[in-house]
Amino acid sequence: MKYLERGYAELDELPPFPSEERLKKKPVAYIECPQPIPCSPCYEACPANAIKMENINDPPVVNYEKCTGCMNCIRVCPGLAIFMLRLREDGKGEVTLQYELLPWLKKGDKVELLNRKGEVVGIGIVNWVLPPERNDQTSLVRVEMDTKLIYEVRAVRKVKE
Ligand code: SF4
Ligand code: SF4
Repeated sequence: MKYLERGYAELDELPPFPSEERLKKKPVAYIECPQPIPCSPCYEACPANAIKMENINDPPVVNYEKCTGCMNCIRVCPGLAIFMLRLREDGKGEVTLQYELLPWLKKGDKVELLNRKGEVVGIGIVNWVLPPERNDQTSLVRVEMDTKLIYEVRAVRKVKE
């Protein structure tokens, strides 16, 4: 569990990514939750039975072919550990992520794209936001970026105007 000492996970500690073909079909949930902890809201929220978890302590495993992209899991994850990834036909990529900071982001905002270490790796544009509707949900933002960045961007920060 080197990621606990390091403070972030390396790719070899995370699940394999969905194939490019799958990422081009529609958004798919990618879960970065390698630590065995007693937590299962993602598993319980999935209507497609796409998340496997034999035991409540098991890290969740997504069946990318079963995932419909409904976003139920990302809305209820207390660990901010789920990301919806997509490769668009126009050559752009999108990452949808949980966002719990103020000021609240809005469509069209420019954001700095941060990797797992918190380093800035580019600039993206917010193209969709969804505020929470219940107390157990977090707000979501979707950010457009260069395709290669969907594999590493895991947080965003509003660009100061
Ligand atoms: S996005 Fe929907 S279908 Fe896919 S894993 Fe999450 S809850 Fe299941
Ligand atoms: S809800 Fe989030 S933190 Fe809990 S097991 Fe699922 S991915 Fe991990």
